[in-house]
Amino acid sequence: MKFGWTADTAALHTRRMLNSLALASVMFAATPGNAGGISAVDVRGDQVTLRFDDSVDGASAFLLNEPRRIALDISGARIGANGFTGGGGAVSAVRQGQVSDETARVVLDLVTPAIVSNAQFAQDGKSLSFSLQGVSDSGFRAALGKGRARIDAPTAMMARAPRRMHSITVPIPAAARGLVLPAVAGPRDGARPLVVIDAGHGGHDPGAINRENGKREKDVTLAIAQAIRDQLLKSGRVRVALTRDDDRFLILQERYGIARKLNADLFISIHADSAENDEAHGATVYTLSETASDREAARLAARENKADIINGVNLGGQSGDVSSILIDLTQRESMNISAGFARLLQREAAPYVPFRSAYHRFASLMVLKAPDTPSVLFETGYISNVDDSAFLSSREGQDRIARGVARAIEVHFARKLVMREDRAGG
Ligand code: ZN
Repeated sequence: MKFGWTADTAALHTRRMLNSLALASVMFAATPGNAGGISAVDVRGDQVTLRFDDSVDGASAFLLNEPRRIALDISGARIGANGFTGGGGAVSAVRQGQVSDETARVVLDLVTPAIVSNAQFAQDGKSLSFSLQGVSDSGFRAALGKGRARIDAPTAMMARAPRRMHSITVPIPAAARGLVLPAVAGPRDGARPLVVIDAGHGGHDPGAINRENGKREKDVTLAIAQAIRDQLLKSGRVRVALTRDDDRFLILQERYGIARKLNADLFISIHADSAENDEAHGATVYTLSETASDREAARLAARENKADIINGVNLGGQSGDVSSILIDLTQRESMNISAGFARLLQREAAPYVPFRSAYHRFASLMVLKAPDTPSVLFETGYISNVDDSAFLSSREGQDRIARGVARAIEVHFARKLVMREDRAGG
């Protein structure tokens, strides 16, 4: 008995030691070289100012309920001390947490319901100020449902030198380019269903990178998209277009915009996941939902939606709540079809591609926002995992994925055809 107790205690100590080691490494990772540390949070009545000891990249604000809070995610920032200076407003406490290497979160506890208004960065990107606008309970709930509002850092920061190993400074393409439609391949019969395959990332946006072998998400997504196209063209049952057929950058709206303009029947965005934990592996299918199915899905959406923001410049060319996704009723049917396809994709592709056990997740992914095109985002595996990145980069792996996806697509359209004929038949 005593022995058992001692062993348990030893195990507990070991666990504690491991925990504190893990914590130490997390804290180390969460302190990138030149990120702007949060040096002060100042509250003067309804005016709030966050100061940083270096310029930061941008921010987004959102509300949390029960208890009511305002949260700000500051990209390119590092947390400082909890608490705040000043007082006299709706704020009772301020806490900070590092949510990722790149992002610090500041949470304001509220005494009375309030929302963020008139948020803006100083020209040097070293402070962010906003007003707290008092609202009713129902006003707060309504604002809560709107999701995140993006606060862009000043464009003056475009000229700044890259600060992190993986950050890249690039010439910014004009946001308001005309949409260039890609060629449609396959049977000339316009009645054949059209599938648009979107290779995630591209150009100056590499997507996720494996730190060991340097494999980049943008390369594997392109190779996989091309393999899927080739596989689909072999059977000749559907028409296919790729949003990009080379190493170029497209903003998220262009990607689903192409699918809409071409009147696509199905849109599949190809990605490869990454995680701090390099053991994480396997494929996941995401479909659109206003609320994420879990924290991991929320994090993934935040990461993928960020493709339009390079060094704090919003390439989406829209202001305010561009990153918040509202789903109207016309999207419900597409969402149901998308969810059905997600299940089918796992069923048909599982013999070829290893899936995670929770293979279908929901998130507010910008690239899936075409209201009338059933759409899924296929995270084909983890580029951060050794085995997955080898599979995704290999010709054999790409062909296996392509075979699985093509089977799912063919079953999907065969089913639709049967349904149509049933309806036509009475
Ligand atoms: Zn991606």
